Order: sequence, then structure tokens, then C-alpha cells
Amino acid sequence: MNSKITILLIEDESSISKLITKLLTSQNYKVLSTSTAKDGLSIITSHCPDVVLLDLGLPDMDGLDIIRQVRSWSSLPIIVISARTQEKEKVLALDLGADDYISKPFGNAELLARVRTVIRHSNKLNTNTPLYKRPYYAKGLKIDFEKHLLTINGEPIHLTQIEFKIISLLAQNSGSVITYSTIISNIWGPYVDDNNRILRVNMANIRRKIEANPAEPQYILTEVGIGYRMIEDEAE
Ligand code: CA
Repeated sequence: MNSKITILLIEDESSISKLITKLLTSQNYKVLSTSTAKDGLSIITSHCPDVVLLDLGLPDMDGLDIIRQVRSWSSLPIIVISARTQEKEKVLALDLGADDYISKPFGNAELLARVRTVIRHSNKLNTNTPLYKRPYYAKGLKIDFEKHLLTINGEPIHLTQIEFKIISLLAQNSGSVITYSTIISNIWGPYVDDNNRILRVNMANIRRKIEANPAEPQYILTEVGIGYRMIEDEAE
């Protein structure tokens, strides 16, 4: 890596801030950190970081307002740091345009994986080539988006149109959580009833077709109360 990737950390708990800074610095990221929303916003405009790690409970402003403001002019990747119990807040953050979230307390490996995923996605978006010409591949499961074909260890799996759309959406955002409402509005449009039943039924069918044990899925993971996360694409 010739120029370091810069990560802005907006977190008012100094112990967490120190831990994250140490971890990211050890992985050769450049870390800027602040404990206030006001400074965070000014660093975003002055330094153009590559990724923002954002605590939602800040002393001077709600982190959700930072997401709103930043999203009005930038697609800069934002990962929200949130308490494990606050599902509603996480969903709101994701629907406002945050790219992912991590729950406190979190493991180092988990945090680094989230950071790598958003960087990878933003690199893809910055190239001019069509986003998903290349198939998705992980643990023997392959999705060829152009051919509309899903195979597991080479065996074609029959999916309905809707099921294929759902799994394609998740695969094209693999490694990141996608909220129930994002999936529903992408697949069925913005006017469908905002209840998850239709999605849950389809997901149960998809899992029955692709998972060896649908109760312990290995491809599409459930983030309870939030949405689904497809395991990260193995191909580079
Ligand atoms: Ca806080």
C-alpha cells in the first residue's frame, strides 16, 4: 500500500477510542480521532478520510444527524459503532445511509473485517467497470449474475425470480448487513407493506435450497432485528 488509508474515528469514550486507534494503526491505517460531532464533521470536510467509524451517542450531537449531513453530499463509507441492544438505532442508521455497524463490545477481527469490506466496496464503486460482471463465489456457492445462475459445487440450484433477486442483492453487498426494509423496497418496490413476512418466507425457501442445514446457515446470516448479511465474496 503506497498511500495509507485514512480512517476517522468519532468516539467520545476514550478507552474505546484508544483501543480502536491502536488496532487500526497496527494494521497500517492512518487514524484521525475526535470525541465530538462538530470536530468530526470538520475533519470530514478538511481531510476527506476513506472511512468513518462513528459512535452514535456523542456529547454534542446525535450520530444519526452526522450520517444525514454527510449523506447529503458524500458517499464516504460510514461504519456505526453502537451498543448491542439498540437494534432500532442501528436500523435507522443503516437506512439513513450508514454502510454497516459494529456492536460494542466487539472483537478486533470483526472490526477489521468490517473496515476491509467497506473499503473494498467503495473501491468497486470508484471504478468505471460495471459493478458485477464477475460472479460471486464463496464456499462452493457461485452466482453468475449475467446468466442468472446459482450453482453449489457446480450443481445448478433452481430459484424463483424473486429468490434470485434477493440473493443477488445480498451477494452484491456481501460482507455487509442489508436491512429488511432495504431488501423489501429493492425487490418489491417502496409501496409494499412494511412487514417482513414476505421476505421471511422467501428467505426460508432460499435457505432450504442452498443451505445444508437451514437452521444454521453458512451463506446468509441473520442479524436479528436488523437484516441479513451474506458471507464475503472470496474472489478478489
Ligand atoms: Ca458515546
